[in-house]
Parts: sequence; structure tokens; C-alpha cells
Amino acid sequence: MQQPPEGPAIVWLRDDLRIADNPALNAAVERGGTVLVLFVLDEVSDGIRGLGGASRWWLHQSLTSLGASLAELGVPLVLRRGAAAKIVPAVVAETGAGAVFWNRRYGGAARTVDTELKTTLRADGLEVASFAASLLFEPWTIQTGAGNPYSVFTPFWKACRDAPPPRGPLPAPTAIDGHAGAAASDAIDDWALEPTHPDWAGGLRESWTPGEAAASAALDDFLATKLADYAGERDFPAEEATSRLSPHLRFGEISPYTVWDRATRARAELGGAGAEGTTRFLTELGWREFTHHVLFHAPELATVNWRREFDAFPWPPLDESALVAWQRGRTGLPIVDAGMRELWTTGTMHNRIRMVVASFLTKNLLIDWRLGEQWFWDTLVDADEASNPFNWQWVAGSGADAAPYFRVFNPELQAKKFDGHGQYVKHWVPEVGTDAYPEPIVDLGETRRAALAAYDVVRNSA
Ligand code: FAD
Repeated sequence: MQQPPEGPAIVWLRDDLRIADNPALNAAVERGGTVLVLFVLDEVSDGIRGLGGASRWWLHQSLTSLGASLAELGVPLVLRRGAAAKIVPAVVAETGAGAVFWNRRYGGAARTVDTELKTTLRADGLEVASFAASLLFEPWTIQTGAGNPYSVFTPFWKACRDAPPPRGPLPAPTAIDGHAGAAASDAIDDWALEPTHPDWAGGLRESWTPGEAAASAALDDFLATKLADYAGERDFPAEEATSRLSPHLRFGEISPYTVWDRATRARAELGGAGAEGTTRFLTELGWREFTHHVLFHAPELATVNWRREFDAFPWPPLDESALVAWQRGRTGLPIVDAGMRELWTTGTMHNRIRMVVASFLTKNLLIDWRLGEQWFWDTLVDADEASNPFNWQWVAGSGADAAPYFRVFNPELQAKKFDGHGQYVKHWVPEVGTDAYPEPIVDLGETRRAALAAYDVVRNSA
């Protein structure tokens, strides 16, 4: 009989807080020994971006849910806090682990941590392996004919579609031999991820159920009731027409492979009626891929203009009061204020309105996209290291495949087109049209002209 391998396998989870379709977990089970799951709250390693408030709230719920599911399988979830480069080897030493498995991350600082750990753990004689789990296509596999990364979405997505299709999702292990030895874990409450004084998370609790089971249910609900109309309705903020999967995908409570697989099956069931909605939905997943590929090749995406000629953009001195009016939803532009209040209350904002408020901040208020990105980073439950800065740069005009700078969203026209009956605005800004509602803080026409004049500086410097 084959001897079981020495020591437990550690599955080090990061942005993949799930049991189903988790290649690192499956590899640990297949190894044949005992298994423990580790999560490290790393807020100190060089270049690792600390989570924003809404993400911290989500993480608390997601880890609690995961811990309960793992406990049912008899597998311990060990929580530790500190620099991963120190914590992972410490847990290896404490448990006598013989293997460490993880799913890959794509941010620059995270990759540095992971690469160094792989080297040191292997040098210590451990079995170490990493897996593709969070993206459908690994960034180094999708390149132009000349071997460069794509900078435009359409050819990027065509290259993905021409590549071998994503694998099917892996089944969740039903029996795992959990590591029974002692492995000290922090208590999640000690991490103080949830707000207390004040507790601003009431709207988040009402709007969301984090965790793997809720993610799977959200996908099923979307496919059964909204996929067929997705292409036509996804732009209307008052309709609940999109999947609301983004925070679940961000924390890896569901894998893109599972989403891809189930959406493709749903298309087959819907027949012709499902084709357009499914293609559109899968293309949005394609945008998620693109943002991560761009981040892989431009790790400073949250701080540095992707198009470096934008470094010449003459941002005027910051008008703090305008920034605060934008953050609080008090700009006097109803559709902008509706979006900013939705964000503050629920931790999300409809995609169309994200574009409108981002355009308003960067073009009508002439406030640097980085400040908007930071606000979103703190307040969005789906705040993502790739998608957030990518989309901010996309709207600002400095990003990959960006909207041309001169395309300034007009909030009034956007409201007419996408919220014609004012349903969305009335829901979030009930005082609109009364004396209690402020006058617009800027003139849209004047500020648009000023933005275009500022852009001329970039154009002339290129
Ligand atoms: P659906 O319409 O159901 O789309 C399905 C999935 O596709 C989404 O869950 C998401 O994973 C992906 N997706 C859709 N649109 C985009 C996009 N433009 N870029 C990347 N992925 C996309 N999305 C984030 O996940 N995290 C962010 O931090 C984030 N910041 C944004 C900032 C700005 C300024 C803008 C304009 C957009 C941002 N987005 C971000 C993209 C998009 O708004 C959200 O992904 C979408 O609103 C989530 O809702 P949904 O899950 O119902 O999307």
C-alpha cells in the first residue's frame, strides 16, 4: 500500500474563497494526506494594497461563511495576519506541512510575494504548486502576433475566443481528510473588519449575502430570469437586469470557469432567444479578463497613467469642496448624486452610472481620476485591483482602449436616455425638484469646454 505523504498540505487561499472549482484545494486532496486551509490578512507586504472599508466588511462575511463550510467537511480554516512571506513558512513549521498549494494572483506586488515564497519553500524541500483559477486565460498565453500584450479589447477578446476554450469547472471535493493537529488561528472578530463606531454597514447587509452558496444562487437566478434580456436591459439602472456577481467574483466565491460553463449551458437551453444575451454577458467577463491582463503588464495601474502622455494633463489645484460634494451625492446633478448615494448605501453602483459619475469627476470637475479611484476602492464591495483602476483610466481617457477624451458624458442626456422616467433618480434622490436639493455646482457646458482645453495640452505634448 502506498504510504500517505508526510505532513499536511496547506491550501493558501487569497482571492478564491470557495470550495467548488478550486484547483489548489483539489490538488491537496489528490495528494492523499491531510489538508488545512490558510488565509493570511496581509496589509504590510511591500506594495500590497490595503482593502477598503466595504471590502473589509465583505471579507469578514465571506471568511465566516467559508469557515463554516470547511468545518462541515472537518477541515480547519487557519486565519493569520501579517506579511505572507513570514506567516506561510511559520504555519508550515508549526504544522509540519509537506506541501503548499495556491491559485495564482496577477497584481505585481502579489506576484513578487508568491514567486519568492515558491522559491524559499521549495528550497526547504516542500512540494509547492500554483494553479489557474481566477482567470479564464492566463495573461502570458494571449499575445499579439508580434508577441506583445493587447492594448485594444476587440482583438484581445477575439484572440481569447480563438484560444482553446476554458476548461470545465472541477467538482467540489465531498470528503477531505482535515488536518487534526493544532494550528493556532486568529479569531476573525479580532481583525475588526466590520465597522462599529459608527456601523455604516446596514445598507450592505440589506443588499448582499456574501459567500459561496449565495454566489452560486445569484448566478442561477440571473441565468434563469435575466440572461435572455441582458443585452437590451443591462444599461438601465432602474432595472435589476445584471448578474450582481462582481463582488462574488472579486473574492473568488465563484470561479469564472463556473460562470462560463453555466452561462454556456443556459444559452443552449434558451435556444435562439438566449444567444444575444449570453454573448453580451460572456463579453463582460471578457472585459474582466482584459483588465487583469492589462494589470499583469502594467502593475502600477492604480497610480500611473497607462498612456504616459497623460502625465502632461494640467489638473488644476484640488477643489476639496467639489470632491466632497461628489462623494456625498450633493453635486446638484441628479443622476450623479443618485449613483454616489447608491454607492455609499449599498457598496455598489450600476455600471452605466459608474461611467457617468467618473466622467463628471474627471471632466466636469477636473479632479484627478486617482482620487475617484480611491473613493471607489474604499466604498465598493467589488473594488478590484484590476477592474477599478482600469475602468477609471478608461473613462478618464488615459487607459487601455479608453474612450476618446473628448467624449464627455453629459449627465442630463444620460439620465434622459437610461432613466427616462426618473425612477432611479427618485429612488436615491427623493428631494429632487424641491428646495432641499442643491443647484448644480458647475455649468456642464463651460466645464466641458475647459476639459477639452486641458486635453489640448496632452495632445500638443504628444
Ligand atoms: P454584469 O453586467 O452582470 O457583468 C458580469 C461580470 O462581468 C461582472 O460581475 C464583472 O465581473 C464583469 N464586468 C462587467 N463589466 C465590466 C467592466 N467594465 N470591467 C471589468 N469587468 C466587468 N468592476 C469590478 O468588478 N470591480 C471594480 O472595482 C470596478 N470598478 C469600476 C469603476 C468604474 C469607474 C467603472 C466605470 C466600472 C467599474 N467596474 C468594476 C465594472 C462594472 O461596473 C462592474 O463590474 C459591474 O457594474 C458589476 O455588476 P454586475 O456583476 O451586475 O455586472
